[in-house]
Order: sequence, then C-alpha cells, then structure tokens
Amino acid sequence: MSACEQIMQEQTLIILKPDAVHRHKMGRIISRFEDKGLKLAAAKFMQIPEALARRHYAVHEGKPFFEGVVKYLSSSPVLVMVWQAEGAIQISRKLMGATFGFDAEPGTIRGDFGCSRGYNLIHGSDSPQSAAYEIGLYFKPEEIVDYSLADQNWIWGRND
Ligand code: UDP
Ligand code: MG
Repeated sequence: MSACEQIMQEQTLIILKPDAVHRHKMGRIISRFEDKGLKLAAAKFMQIPEALARRHYAVHEGKPFFEGVVKYLSSSPVLVMVWQAEGAIQISRKLMGATFGFDAEPGTIRGDFGCSRGYNLIHGSDSPQSAAYEIGLYFKPEEIVDYSLADQNWIWGRND
C-alpha cells in the first residue's frame, strides 16, 4: 500500500454488543461489513469490565441512560473489532442505522435485526476523535494488523 493510501485509511471501533452474541447475529452483522468492502484490522472477544464500560461511554456520563448502558455493555461477552477503510466511520454509521431498532431504517443493521428501545446490537465510533479514544481503550498499537486486501483495487476503484 502506498503512503497516500495509508493516510486515507480511517479506522473505527465496532462492538457487537451482548444481544448480538446471545441472538446469534454476529456472523450476519460481520457479513455486512465484509460485503461493503471494509477491512478487518483487529478483533477481540471479551467481557468488558464495568470500569472500562464507564470509560467507553464517558461522554454520556450524567445522562439518564448512562448507568443502564454501562450495565448493558458489561453484562456479557462482546466482540470488539477495528474496521478500516477510507471513510470507515461514516460508512459504518450508515450500515448501523439509527440508535434503536424501533425507528432504524430497514436495510440497516439495527433496522433489520431488532426493534428494541434499549438494546441495539452494535456500537460504532462517531468521529475520528472518538475512534482514536475507543480503539486505544481496547487495543495496543501492535494488535492492529496492517495488510492489504487482495481485491481492494476493484472495491475502491475510481475512473479518474
Ligand atoms: N442509549 C440508551 N438510551 C438512550 C440513548 C442511548 O440506552 O436514550 C444507549 C444505546 O445503547 C446507545 C448508547 O447508549 O448505543 C450510546 O448512545 P448514542 O446516542 O451515542 O448512540 P449511538 O452512537 O450508539 O447510535
Ligand atoms: Mg454514539
């Protein structure tokens, strides 16, 4: 990969939350990211300690749902991943859909796989700053794998 291509590569933290694991949806959700052409750069199956869940959602501290979302995220194992692509953060947010399944659009992950107003299957970073913060919570730099996908020129091809 050229230096220019590397600069264009953005990373985002994706977590398949406890309900995705218990409802056997991990494979189908991961397929959405693979089908879109994003590159998996790191993955870890783990139970998030409560203290780490608090740091993860620190931006929401003081909001009425804070204690509830900390409990939800730390209640059971999750699959934590880093996905990489040019525009990975926005692409992933579009794949995920609105925050809860009850009003997320059909065709999105949250829209297709749930209708809860409390559990929503997946977390995705919402900005480059939060992606850097969140990736640092779960992964050491040497755990992020650097490689090129064999078909990336076809997936990302341009005519100019
Ligand atoms: N959340 C909740 N109740 C709310 C808003 C959010 O339980 O009213 C939880 C939900 O799990 C959500 C997380 O808190 O994914 C973070 O909220 P945010 O608004 O950042 O939503 P997201 O970025 O995940 O779409
Ligand atoms: Mg958010």
